[in-house]
Amino acid sequence: MKTVLITGASRGIGAAIAKKLNSKYKLVINYNKSKKQALDLMEDLRKVNPYVIAVEADVSKEKDVEKLFKIAEDNFGHVDILINNAGISYFALVQDMDFMERLKVINTNLNSVFLNSKRAIPNMVSRKYGVIINMSSIRGDFGASMEACYSASKGAINTFTKALAKELAPSKIRVNAIAPGIVETDMMKNDFSEEELDQLKEEVLTGRFAQPEEIASLVEYLISDDASYITGDIIHINGGFL
Ligand code: NAP
Repeated sequence: MKTVLITGASRGIGAAIAKKLNSKYKLVINYNKSKKQALDLMEDLRKVNPYVIAVEADVSKEKDVEKLFKIAEDNFGHVDILINNAGISYFALVQDMDFMERLKVINTNLNSVFLNSKRAIPNMVSRKYGVIINMSSIRGDFGASMEACYSASKGAINTFTKALAKELAPSKIRVNAIAPGIVETDMMKNDFSEEELDQLKEEVLTGRFAQPEEIASLVEYLISDDASYITGDIIHINGGFL
């Protein structure tokens, strides 16, 4: 049974991924602030899978990332599959952006991907096996007004993904990113008013937003051996939002 480490798995897309992968993998579900939700999720998953642990760590901090991987390795030996999902949004005009808020977005969304990957790679290289999935966004391709910092963090994830895939291909490690459109989670509910959401919905060909489970299904496929020929790619899943 392979071990999957999912960052930001206490809520939203990360929690849906954990539920989707449960009983097929050993799971490390990371959380930062939502302890109760993470522990409730762990308890639920353990009803069918004894190999689930929840670990508190702020993945924007190297010390926390080290702790996260140490606990994962102490419990399950090594991490085979890394899903860099944790992320935050920040709505503001560029001229109004606060420096510390901006830094927090870059550290949480982008630097965490670097830190987690850096920590996971040596073990993957020595085992000649590994899969890394980075959670990007449609904003990483096209940007969005009031979301310049968030968009930049996701655009950088896309190029990081392509570069890392080149670096790790000789070691048989696949690296891909997933770029969702709008997904029904707390993030989307906090970011937009009901009126804005109705307007946005009209721009989606499917006429609705994604459910977190639909993103989780794509993750399940991409980490499986069925996707062995997919690497260095940004997979879009947006209901025709383009
Ligand atoms: P969400 O419902 O707001 O959940 C965010 C998750 O990230 C939570 O589990 C949160 O943990 C975790 N997190 C935040 N900062 C963290 C940190 N410093 N360390 C560890 N965990 C941290 O968001 P979501 O919609 O599921 O988003 C998940 C990913 O998908 C993000 O990368 C987001 O940018 C991307 N995405 C979302 C959408 C969308 O429409 N929802 C669209 C495109 C891409 P705690 O609550 O425990 O702090």
